[in-house]
This record gives sequence, C-alpha cells and structure tokens, in this order.
Amino acid sequence: MIDPFGRLVSYLRVSVTDRCDFRCVYCMSENMTFLPKKDLLTLEELERLCAIFVRLGVKKLRITGGEPLVRRNIMSLFGGLGAMLDGDGLEELTLTTNGSMLSKYADDLAAAGVRRVNISLDTLDPGKFLEITRWGRFDRVMEGLTAAEQAGLKVKINAVAMKGVNDDELVDMVAWSHERGHDITFIEVMPMGEVGEHTRLDQYLPLSQVRRNLAARYTLSDIPLDTGGPARYVQAAETGGRIGFITPLTHNFCESCNRVRLTCTGMLYMCLGQDDAVDLRAVLRASTSDDAVIEAIHAAIAAKPKGHDFIIDRKNHGPAVSRHMSVTGG
Ligand code: SAM
Ligand code: SF4
Repeated sequence: MIDPFGRLVSYLRVSVTDRCDFRCVYCMSENMTFLPKKDLLTLEELERLCAIFVRLGVKKLRITGGEPLVRRNIMSLFGGLGAMLDGDGLEELTLTTNGSMLSKYADDLAAAGVRRVNISLDTLDPGKFLEITRWGRFDRVMEGLTAAEQAGLKVKINAVAMKGVNDDELVDMVAWSHERGHDITFIEVMPMGEVGEHTRLDQYLPLSQVRRNLAARYTLSDIPLDTGGPARYVQAAETGGRIGFITPLTHNFCESCNRVRLTCTGMLYMCLGQDDAVDLRAVLRASTSDDAVIEAIHAAIAAKPKGHDFIIDRKNHGPAVSRHMSVTGG
C-alpha cells in the first residue's frame, strides 16, 4: 500500500473498543457516552480485517482503544493475530494499555506472541494519578507493570506532559523508568474531542521546555530512530536509557508517516488529525469475499492526506477533530 505522496503504509493501529475503566482528564469527560455494542465490529470481524491488511503489506499491528484489555474475550483476538506472526507477513504485534488489567493478561499476551507493550503512566504520585485518571488505581497499574516485566515483555512508558500537573515530576520519571530498564516517551496534549471542564490551553506544555529541563540533569544526544511516527528520540548518557518526544502539533513527521488507523466500528482513518475516513464495516458485512474490502482499502490509501491540522493557541483551544482519542486509538 503506497499513498499518493509515496509513503509506504505498513503499520495499522486498531482500536478494539472506545470504552475504558479510566477517565483521564485529557482524553474523556467523566460521563462519556459510549458507542452502542451493535455498532462495534465483532472480534472475528476485527481479525478478518487485520488479516486483509496483513495480506496488503501491514507488518506491524498495534492494538489500542479505549482500554483494549477491557473488551470481553480480547485474548481470542490476540491469539488469532499472534498466529499471523510467523510466516504470514506480520512482524510485530503490540498494544498500548493503561496497565490496569496487565496483572491478569501479561502472561497470555506473551504467549500470543506480543513482545512489547506501551504502558501509559503520567505520574508516580498515587494522589495525582487519581486526579488525572479520575477512576484509576495506581497500585493496580504498578502490579500490572510488574506482571509485564515478569512475563518478559519489553515495556515503554508513555506520559502525557501537562502544565501545572506533572511538569515537576518528569525528570524523576525518566530516572525511575530507566532504572527499571524501560524507555519513556513524552506526549504533548492533543486537541481531540470535548473533555469537559479542562481546556487544552491550560494543559498544553510544549515538549521543547521538557527537553530543556531534562538537559539540566542529563547529557542528551539525538539518536536516529525513525519509527515513521511522530516520536523523536534522545539517549541520556548517565542512564543509557532512551527518551522519546511526541510532538503532534509540529509537522516534522508527516512526510514519513507509515500508518493508518482502524476504529472499533470499522472506520479507517488515514490521519489522526483529520476527519477523512472510509467505512469498512459496510463492505465487510456485505460479502464473505474480501475483494470489495481490498478495493475500499486501496481507495482509502489513495486519499491519505499529506498532514494534519492540529493547532492549540488562544483562539483555538477547542478540539481540532471532534472524535475522542479513545475512538481512533492513541
Ligand atoms: N487506554 C490505553 C492507554 O491509555 O494507554 C490506550 C488508549 S489511549 C487513547 C492511548 C494514548 O493516548 C495514551 O498514552 C494516552 O495518554 C494518550 N492520549 C489520550 N488522549 C490524549 C490527548 N488528548 N492528547 C495526547 N495524548 C492523549
Ligand atoms: Fe482510558 Fe487511555 Fe483514555 Fe486514559 S488515555 S481514559 S486510560 S483510553
């Protein structure tokens, strides 16, 4: 799959549910209305679609949400996708999770062929954790992290940097992650979906500033680790660990973008920051043959936009795209 700008699409992110057991302030409002179950693709439909994408050249699948591990029977999907790892063209199966269910599922994930997992954690302070996630339990996430480590999964920590919330802790979080042997990536708040009383302008903290603070404690050197995504990486000489910066509000990564995103209702988004999407659910359900689905995917890739339209400033602090991150998957 090659788009009109010559970019090879080899990475599919799949949101398997819009539901979650947390209500992070930057992601959801406290009283979210979730999609009716009938609108969701079944796990079998998700597996069929992923298999088609793998046939079309997808090498990396990331399962996300909402919280992917709250979907009932989710391990059956991981089992099916894991079976595509050897020989069927799929090279990597991974997930992004809030960690709350990892103590239950880490071993099963490893058995299914998952080797790496991204765990989202914005603070090491249990009180602050409750404020940010509203419903999350810090101790459960720590147990989940330990379970992932014990299952042999390579962990990366993802932290959203928020002004006045966790900015005073980010340097310590690097030390903590690297001590445990994990890379850490910081993310700028993105303007996606209404989230209630919090405005993004209050939360927005440019990562250039985070990097300056980190440079006061660590000797940082750029490392050329091109993931085809919006992350740029540095290495801290003192720990040997890596620190990533995801700055979605800049455009410096769109030229090398290698990914598309599938929602739990079968909408294929060609860009996280644009509203263009193609409905694959209807074509998928219309026939047991995959031909029409393949045609729809090719048409979608042919319309992948050049870049996104995110902007947060004093005039634009509402959402740039109306859907929540939990729908498209982070
Ligand atoms: N529930 C899982 C989790 O939290 O890891 C997976 C889905 S979550 C939507 C994926 C990532 O998106 C998380 O790291 C989360 O912190 C991030 N995220 C959610 N809303 C965001 C926003 N508005 N701006 C930046 N990052 C956001
Ligand atoms: Fe749930 Fe993840 Fe969104 Fe937090 S960021 S509310 S854990 S989907």
